[in-house]
Amino acid sequence: MLLGACKILDENVIEVTELAKLNILEYPDERLHTIAEPVDQIDESIRDFVKDMAETMYDSKGIGLAATQVDVHKRIITIDISEDQSDLLILINPLLLSRDGEVVSQEGCLSVPSIYETVARAETVCVEAMDLEGEKRTIDADGLLAICIQHEMDHLEGKVFVEYLSQLKRQRIIKKLEKKRKLSDG
Ligand code: ZN
Repeated sequence: MLLGACKILDENVIEVTELAKLNILEYPDERLHTIAEPVDQIDESIRDFVKDMAETMYDSKGIGLAATQVDVHKRIITIDISEDQSDLLILINPLLLSRDGEVVSQEGCLSVPSIYETVARAETVCVEAMDLEGEKRTIDADGLLAICIQHEMDHLEGKVFVEYLSQLKRQRIIKKLEKKRKLSDG
């Protein structure tokens, strides 16, 4: 990256260099199909990585990010569904305890940019996960949070939301993304 060389330009660019933005894999990158490994110890490197994940998620205007999406195959998720980025939820080694009901909604994903498709999910979920202090907590979620948790937990299993769609729809999405990438590559 050329970011280091940007320091001479102006103050705004220097701010950019300070953001710990991680590179987000884009569908259909095969690495998105990797099954993540459990975190066995929450040490300084995990804490630093989670901080980078949260910054990357906020910077990309996302409401959720799984470590899989930044090519780190550990069971870590960051979520913030608040309007003002004030309610960061960190799920380490999340485990689904129960699920109930069904709800259909439009989903998007930072790994499938500008594509929104309808997916059916459980309406409520109960998950157990560790926080950054290593404390186990149980989260009862409904609404957007429940959908987001299921979407991100899928990533840890190597599943991207468009894989709930028909083969035909998925092929169309892959073509669309290819076209977009070609355009942005000039
Ligand atoms: Zn996603």
